[in-house]
Amino acid sequence: MTIVINMREGLDERKIKVAARLILEGKLVAFPTETVYGLGADALNENAVRRIFEAKGRPADNPLIIHIASISDLEKVAREVPEKAKLLAEKFWPGPLTLVLPKRREVPLVTTGGLDTVAVRMPSHPIALALIKASTPLAAPSANISGKPSPTSAEHVIDDFYGKIEGIIDGGETWIGVESTVIDVTEEPPVLLRPGGIPVEEIERVIGPVRIHPAVKGKNADLAKAPGMKYKHYAPNASVVVVEGEPEKRKKKIRELVEEYRERGYRVGVMATVEVEADEFYPLGKTPEEVARNLFKALRELDRRGVDVIIAEGVEERGIGLAVMNRLRKAAGYRVIRA
Ligand code: AMP
Ligand code: MG
Repeated sequence: MTIVINMREGLDERKIKVAARLILEGKLVAFPTETVYGLGADALNENAVRRIFEAKGRPADNPLIIHIASISDLEKVAREVPEKAKLLAEKFWPGPLTLVLPKRREVPLVTTGGLDTVAVRMPSHPIALALIKASTPLAAPSANISGKPSPTSAEHVIDDFYGKIEGIIDGGETWIGVESTVIDVTEEPPVLLRPGGIPVEEIERVIGPVRIHPAVKGKNADLAKAPGMKYKHYAPNASVVVVEGEPEKRKKKIRELVEEYRERGYRVGVMATVEVEADEFYPLGKTPEEVARNLFKALRELDRRGVDVIIAEGVEERGIGLAVMNRLRKAAGYRVIRA
């Protein structure tokens, strides 16, 4: 039985109490954050966390992020907090930045996928903050079936989990649309494990140089330190190809590809920043921020419209564009065409 809790009109403390009670009983509740929807459970309750993995079909060695609502929660989960982590938390929390820190014994290994580090973030979405405050720190991966595009609306969560989890809080669409940036601050220099809502350029302005883990841009990397990076990710049912290169050349290449695929009898969907004629078209918007916000929605929507192939326009790998390209290349299984 799944209860859908409507908070589209904004935060409702009475309804938050209902959701918090479910969490404290060891149940699963999906909730909006500023990045994507999370599938939440009590981070310190091993059985509850195990159910997250079951519901998602998530491999047991892919660790979860713990969401907290105050800096004082940090000491409940992290053994120590390096100076650079403090600087980053001060600057970017609440917000889409996740810090990898040494784990406290109290955090079950189930939550961290067997690692002795723990990933922590403080979300800025008022519904997420209120839910955590009314319950406990929440382990919450993206609320999608493992391998599928992340959810940016309650409808996406309902599609994947209705009948399988106890609660879904509908808070409307998320604002950022890609997940948090993950930085490992147990290393020196710190390592960017996953690009996300906060651009790495902004992080370097606060703590100096950051090493970019090779998994961020390509697939043939040492993946031990970037768990989760090795798995199939963000993939719709249709096959995806990404077209990269200069804007004008990209557009031309996309048009050519649409023709080629259509001649071979495929139904073709295009998601791009400029209108392109195809069987189905989904506009990604103009700015990199708009593209980030529309990315997962576009993948899910073109799937719903039943296309066989999705041709996705790449963007410049600057700012949030690095996160967009990381997600797109994975969604495409690294089928990338340079225009
Ligand atoms: P998701 O919440 O579904 O976006 O996935 C969380 C991601 O955070 C994982 O796939 C990892 O890439 C990263 N992560 C979580 N915990 C750790 C950790 N202890 N060390 C390194 N990366 C982590
Ligand atoms: Mg995920």
